[in-house]
Amino acid sequence: MTISAHLRSLSPAAASHGALAACVAIVLTLAALFAPTVEAATARELYADALARERTLRAPTRPQPPSLDELRALVRRYQEVVRQYPRSGYSDNALWQASGLALAAFQHYGNTRDRRDSERLLDMLRSEYPSSSLVARVDERVERLATLAHARLRPTAISAIERTRLDAGVRVTIQLDAEVSYRHERLENPDRVFFDLQGTEAAPELLDATFSFSDDVVRKIRLGRHPNHITRVVLDLDNVEDYSVFSLYNPYRLVIDAVRGPDAPTPEPLTARGGEPAAPAANAAGNFSLSRQLGLGVSRIVIDPGHGGRDPGARGSGMSEATLVLDIALRLKALLASQPSTNVLLTRENDRFIPLEERTAIANRHRADLFLSIHANASTNRMARGIETYFLNFATNPDAEALAARENASSGRTMARLQDLVQTIALNNKLDESREFAEMVQGALDQKLRPVNPQLRDLGVKQAPFVVLIRADMPSVLAEVSFLSNRGEALLLKQDDYRQRIAQALFEAVLRYQRTLKNIQVASQP
Ligand SMILES: [Zn+2]
Repeated sequence: MTISAHLRSLSPAAASHGALAACVAIVLTLAALFAPTVEAATARELYADALARERTLRAPTRPQPPSLDELRALVRRYQEVVRQYPRSGYSDNALWQASGLALAAFQHYGNTRDRRDSERLLDMLRSEYPSSSLVARVDERVERLATLAHARLRPTAISAIERTRLDAGVRVTIQLDAEVSYRHERLENPDRVFFDLQGTEAAPELLDATFSFSDDVVRKIRLGRHPNHITRVVLDLDNVEDYSVFSLYNPYRLVIDAVRGPDAPTPEPLTARGGEPAAPAANAAGNFSLSRQLGLGVSRIVIDPGHGGRDPGARGSGMSEATLVLDIALRLKALLASQPSTNVLLTRENDRFIPLEERTAIANRHRADLFLSIHANASTNRMARGIETYFLNFATNPDAEALAARENASSGRTMARLQDLVQTIALNNKLDESREFAEMVQGALDQKLRPVNPQLRDLGVKQAPFVVLIRADMPSVLAEVSFLSNRGEALLLKQDDYRQRIAQALFEAVLRYQRTLKNIQVASQP
């Protein structure tokens, strides 16, 4: 109890006891004399205490953002200052802080109650403390609340879904742009668990998508749209004993760990090749970039079959580049899927149009380690043949410029944005890594294709400013795997065996690159 509370609880009793009256009167007089200072000190204490708690709660070093309960409890603490000491000089500050916390609660958890609380506290600040300097800032905050409320109307994006194999089972990670509410339930026949994510919308490449796996207890991940912006994510299970769900933050992720049951077949060991350590068991604090830094995690590769949909690319001998490179990409995907330590994603799995910038955006969203765009070449010179591999840089020769112009043709960019593009290229720090990967791709293609294409020309590793490669955060290359405009190579490209060889060459290049990457990362471990 505080001093003033003691005095207040004494006073009614004092009034009814004559003998003590004089003495108590002095005390009361003293209390009355000192009341403003005592109250001020106590109001300050309450306010300072709440402020200290807020600093702790909002500290950037805190592993998780404050929970809704924590935020609301602190709002009440600030309100207590106002309730007990409405006339203290701390009340307007307390209202301001409380409204800010309610705003944060609304921002993170989207509950209208917190938005209303924030507005109510601001109203009170304006009407009860009109001379406070904080009143000048009320309008700005009201506007901010309105903006947030408007943003809440838009669904939260599901930006990525990952499946990782752990020692004890399989982890599925759903990444979202913000925290969302969800419910989950396990159902039988067939065994599955679903998650209904409220107020969400899957990113374009995840929309109604199904991902199948043959090597462990989570067999399929399926996404479906339900009314009112509910996305249902279903995991088809096979011999799963139990599962657990938890959240990770920055970015927000929903993590589901499915534990292998006793009847589950022993999965292939997680160690891919000799000497590499197995992935660590469930670690709530771990994220992909960390495991990647430590050389332990899954390598994620985004394969980009060029063109598609209304953009068929080059044509020759009854084939379109879009169809051809999709076939090769699917073959490459199948080869990479056999690698337990590799996670592969295609920018398109059917004949559809995807803007060039969206292709690397997909890779960036999934934090891919590698981006490989597959194309087939064409030239007005029908004799031109062979393979060439590009990495992002300013074009160094007229042919490369012409190729870049052709491959960039479906970009909606205008010259006005050239300056912006140039800047991005200049800042590209993945140049060396991209060049290295490009060398590996070119070498592997030459080695695999030459036996069946003796006239193959090694056109080498080149640089060109492809829009498709510009915004990639990871080493990225573009391979031109043969010329559709050359009759000999077009005939080869029609053969399954030749396309399989191209896929095999790309596969081997990826493996080689992964090995060098892992060596570097393991070496840089503290
Ligand atoms: Zn192309």
